[in-house]
Amino acid sequence: MAAEASLLHSTQMHRTTTLSFEYRESHDGDKWLSQVALLLDGVERIGTFDNTSTKYMGMSPRALADQPALMEPSESPHEVILYRCDCGETGCAATVARCYLYEDQVVWDRINWGNPRPSDLKAPTFHDDAIIFDAEQYHDAMGRIRSLADRLQP
Ligand SMILES: [Zn+2]
Repeated sequence: MAAEASLLHSTQMHRTTTLSFEYRESHDGDKWLSQVALLLDGVERIGTFDNTSTKYMGMSPRALADQPALMEPSESPHEVILYRCDCGETGCAATVARCYLYEDQVVWDRINWGNPRPSDLKAPTFHDDAIIFDAEQYHDAMGRIRSLADRLQP
């Protein structure tokens, strides 16, 4: 009975989102910026949140690949940084989420736009804003980001 309830919870009540990304390079005067736009079902939803005055840009491939909690989420939730202020500084403003593995799914939730601040690291009770990925598909996408980072900045 408990196992059935758990299966229902994980596979039926929550639709999974497909993670993909787009790599972009831009020049602002002498400043060269590389960024990874994270696409959810093909749409850049996280980077274009418009309830704040801050504009956001993606992290560099290296800055994503260097976050083990994002690349290889564990059952213990960790805070991850997904986007940064469009001046390029993460310390200025960032999009932060709680990231963890739940059964065969990866969850991003408690997404916060603004200055990084500690999120509630208790889990697994999915928050209302939870974005849920199939773990295999998620690892495939993150593996490609890591390969990109290794190619650009080994
Ligand atoms: Zn800034």
